[in-house]
Amino acid sequence: MRFLKIAKDDWTRGVEDLKKSFRVFGPVKEKEAYDFRLLDKGVLPDFSFQNTRLSPKSTVYPQSEILFEYTLDESKADHHVHKVPEKDYSPRVILGIRPCDAKAFELVRLNFDTPEYKDPYWLSAYEATTKVGLACDDPCSTCFCTSAGSGPYDEAGLDVLLADRDDHFLAKVLTEKGEAFVSAAGWNTEAPDAEAGFEKLAAEAEGKVPGGVPTDKLADKETVALHGADFWEDVAFSCINCGTCTYLCPTCWCFDIQDEVKGAEGVRMRNWDSCMFPLFTLHGSGHNPRATKVDRVRQRFMHKLKYFVDRYGRGIQCVGCGRCVSSCPVNIDIRRVARLMNEFEPAPEKCPA
Ligand code: SF4
Ligand code: SF4
Repeated sequence: MRFLKIAKDDWTRGVEDLKKSFRVFGPVKEKEAYDFRLLDKGVLPDFSFQNTRLSPKSTVYPQSEILFEYTLDESKADHHVHKVPEKDYSPRVILGIRPCDAKAFELVRLNFDTPEYKDPYWLSAYEATTKVGLACDDPCSTCFCTSAGSGPYDEAGLDVLLADRDDHFLAKVLTEKGEAFVSAAGWNTEAPDAEAGFEKLAAEAEGKVPGGVPTDKLADKETVALHGADFWEDVAFSCINCGTCTYLCPTCWCFDIQDEVKGAEGVRMRNWDSCMFPLFTLHGSGHNPRATKVDRVRQRFMHKLKYFVDRYGRGIQCVGCGRCVSSCPVNIDIRRVARLMNEFEPAPEKCPA
């Protein structure tokens, strides 16, 4: 680990040099929102954002992705052969990712990189990716990363962490990928005395993050009792099952697999899916184990705040980015639900009459 100072009057040159050896993704403003896009020549990342509307998960895990192609035309030699289309796994950089979103990749990895199963598509893209974080000195009112095991200067999942210091960036280079990144950009001005100042900035930023979202008792709750808690009807009442909360969440990973066939040519693809949709759990028999809105809303929160906690023992499946809080059209708030779940006590059993 080492610190560098990157002068802003050298920023444009460095980013353009980077593009010679990396595909560079960064936040750009479109209408009122910021989102991550591949930056063409001459386009710089716009760092005047608090957080992007969508998380950058699609840079590794596209919303729709072809897994393989095939032909059913038996006159062709390769009929019924699964052919993986050519994919671009050349080195890429996500420039300006917030620390919460970088940490989210580490949580999602638990799903795509297991001892039993390694998703080749997700892993190839992930391994090709260098994550260059932008520390968060101005958190949104809906952020709660410090309650969710992350923080505005969290280094988890990052290769470099940048702190914006007006006329320059302080860069904390964390990994070999990070070294390759600064080398490709030609940034090499050492800042050996920066560590104490960096820690002070981190402490100041953490103090600005709205806190008070308790999760400490979730692991101790009895799952069946929590599932049967009487607050779920109230929590779910206004939900319209739009799926917004899951699509913009950096830690949601669910997908559906579909075949699309035209004539004799077909592709198998996977598309992001949402546990908030009625079709998500519809069985071929017509039975739906989560047929009601309450079932689906409860599933989302139980998965993030209870099942994940119990299965992995490493906190909640949420990094506190606040997107679902700020974008839910009916103001369903995971911070409130976490409090309800954390404080839940089952009603005492009544004595038989
Ligand atoms: S964004 Fe809100 S209304 Fe839409 S599915 Fe999620 S909780 Fe329901
Ligand atoms: S659950 Fe909400 S706050 Fe948590 S990571 Fe997902 S979008 Fe962000």
